[in-house]
Amino acid sequence: MGKQKNTDVCSFCGRPMPDMFSGMEEHVLICSDCIESGHHMVEAMRKARVNSDQSINLDSLPTPQAIKDFLDLYVIGQEEAKRFLSVAVYNHYKRVLQSITNDDVEIEKSNILLVGSTGTGKTLLARTIAKMLKVPFAIGDATSLTQAGYVGEDVETILVRLLQDANYDVTKAERGIVFIDEIDKIARKSENPSITRDVGGEGVQQSLLKMLEGSVVNVPPQGGRKHPDQEYIHVNTKNILFICGGAFDGIERKISQRMNTQTVGFAAQQEAARVDKNNLLQYIAPQDLKSFGLIPEIIGRLPVLTYLKPLDKTALRNILTEPKNALTKQYKKLLAMDNVELTFADDALDYVVDKALEYKLGARGLRGLMETIMADLMFELPSNKKEGVKTSFTVTKEYAEQKLGKDKMVRLKNAV
Ligand code: ADP
Repeated sequence: MGKQKNTDVCSFCGRPMPDMFSGMEEHVLICSDCIESGHHMVEAMRKARVNSDQSINLDSLPTPQAIKDFLDLYVIGQEEAKRFLSVAVYNHYKRVLQSITNDDVEIEKSNILLVGSTGTGKTLLARTIAKMLKVPFAIGDATSLTQAGYVGEDVETILVRLLQDANYDVTKAERGIVFIDEIDKIARKSENPSITRDVGGEGVQQSLLKMLEGSVVNVPPQGGRKHPDQEYIHVNTKNILFICGGAFDGIERKISQRMNTQTVGFAAQQEAARVDKNNLLQYIAPQDLKSFGLIPEIIGRLPVLTYLKPLDKTALRNILTEPKNALTKQYKKLLAMDNVELTFADDALDYVVDKALEYKLGARGLRGLMETIMADLMFELPSNKKEGVKTSFTVTKEYAEQKLGKDKMVRLKNAV
């Protein structure tokens, strides 16, 4: 390649440039700017190829049982949700991978809807699956979304987060997982389609629908509002797995109404007697979501419907000690780095769980409780560190009681 210095124009960008290079054909010239941008393009393509080579393939795809086993490491209980989720995720990625082979049987997309009170592990389940499969993951909140053109976040902003998590590798992002929380909050207020426009409800459901169905969405690269002069990144949502979550407060009433109207006759009465009235959520069906105010099209796009149980005392107690990254394990690890062997007395942990239940703090509140108990220790113990000397400390029930005074509890309650 020879360097030319002339007033000719670059054959690629068409501009007269001071530094030009030619190849075998002397009249084909390229400027230093075009070489540089070409180099960036080749690098980006190479990177994308390496990344997509590392992504999942049929051989490395874990089975539903393996997915569930992994979920068990991080999420306590919620057996049914885990099984449904494992199968749905497995089938989703089989579908994505088979679309490469040209077959005429089309496997439909299996987006998921998780119904359960807040703090029961919906986000944790979705996040853990993404972690296992090493696919990009983004969380969006349906309440912050408005239909295009209104003040608030556009539906596309969720995809901006997904792209960011994928390091702007579009191919990778297009196989990611998106969790949309609080989908119940965009339900329309009445079951009948409204005549007047419903900015926060049905309009948003319509915008979400397009994304769930699978369409090419123009995503503003830096997020924020769309701007006519902006260049968009085109993201195809066909192979993105959407997991939606919502508490659907009060849906038990709809479930019970449906079940009552369905039960007619003697056999049906016997059947009704077997219904577990304390956990009606387990009977949830698509028509209950419709009664709650989701539009049928959205329900149709979330074919995998499952529920999460409220966490009882045993579950909360297990959350403190069992998950791979359980809070107690984290504190032990942190203090072990300061040569302190930390232990928690059983009754201290029981006390924490009792407080979480008494003040209705749920699993999310456990962290605040533990932080309050540990704050002084985490401050003081590292100062006592002596070279090569191991110390130990046991968090007793008395210590926990002392740290969780009434004023602290009120503050924690307000924070959740
Ligand atoms: P949701 O999305 O249902 O509102 P999250 O998944 O965000 O609830 O849960 C909040 C936190 O509570 C989690 O980060 C986790 O620490 C804890 N948690 C909730 N449910 C469980 C569970 N079943 N197993 C383990 N930890 C849980």
